[in-house]
Amino acid sequence: MAAASMAPKEGGQGLQTCPHCGSQAIFRGLRLNQNAEIGRIGLPYRAGGIFTGTEMLFLDLCETCGTVLRFFVKEPRRKWAP
Ligand SMILES: [Zn+2]
Repeated sequence: MAAASMAPKEGGQGLQTCPHCGSQAIFRGLRLNQNAEIGRIGLPYRAGGIFTGTEMLFLDLCETCGTVLRFFVKEPRRKWAP
């Protein structure tokens, strides 16, 4: 009951508990939404030629206190375009 809760159980999907309030009510993989006029929010990468893609940004959210535990993308091996 001691050490088991420390190990990630879902293939490295992130924290099991909120570091702020300790809650385990974590909503994973929530997509970062945006207002319509802004366009897509995400990380830019070179998609080939002159094209630049936007890798969607996801986050894990504590449903108890609202802390965002992390941001992440589904495909981390892009050619990122700073
Ligand atoms: Zn929390």
